Amino acid sequence: MSDAPLILLVEDEPAIATMVRYNLQKHGFRVDEAVDGAEALARIAEERPDLVLLDWMLPAMSGLEVCRQIRRSAATRDLPVIMLTARAEDADAVRALNTGADDYVTKPFGVEALLARIRALLRRAAPPVPHRGGPGRAG
Ligand code: CA
Repeated sequence: MSDAPLILLVEDEPAIATMVRYNLQKHGFRVDEAVDGAEALARIAEERPDLVLLDWMLPAMSGLEVCRQIRRSAATRDLPVIMLTARAEDADAVRALNTGADDYVTKPFGVEALLARIRALLRRAAPPVPHRGGPGRAG
C-alpha cells in the first residue's frame, strides 16, 4: 500500500520510537523516523509526510522550535503536527498549540488514543491542493 499515509515520527527515545512505529505500521501507516530536529526538517524537505508526530523534548532543537520552523515555511505551513509532551500541565499544551501544533498527546499515552488523534487530524487535513489568500498566520 504505497498510498498509505506517511507519518514522520520525531523521537529520540528508542523504546518509544519502536513502540509507536510498530503500532502505526500494524494499523496501515507508513513510518519515517528522525531522532532530532535537524533530521526531522531534512526528512520533511526530502519527502513531505502526511502528518508529523513531534516529541517536545529533543536534543539540541526542541520540538517547539521544530514546530515553529515547520509553520514558518510556506511549503509546510499546513502540515499536520501532533506534539508528544512529557508533562500534563495546561501551560505546556497552550504553548504547543500556540506554536502551531494541531494537537498534542501527553506521555505516557495509549496507542488507541494516539491513533484516534492521528486519524482525526488526517480527516481534517485539507487535500493537497495549494490554496492562496485568506488571512496569514502571524508570527
Ligand atoms: Ca525525547
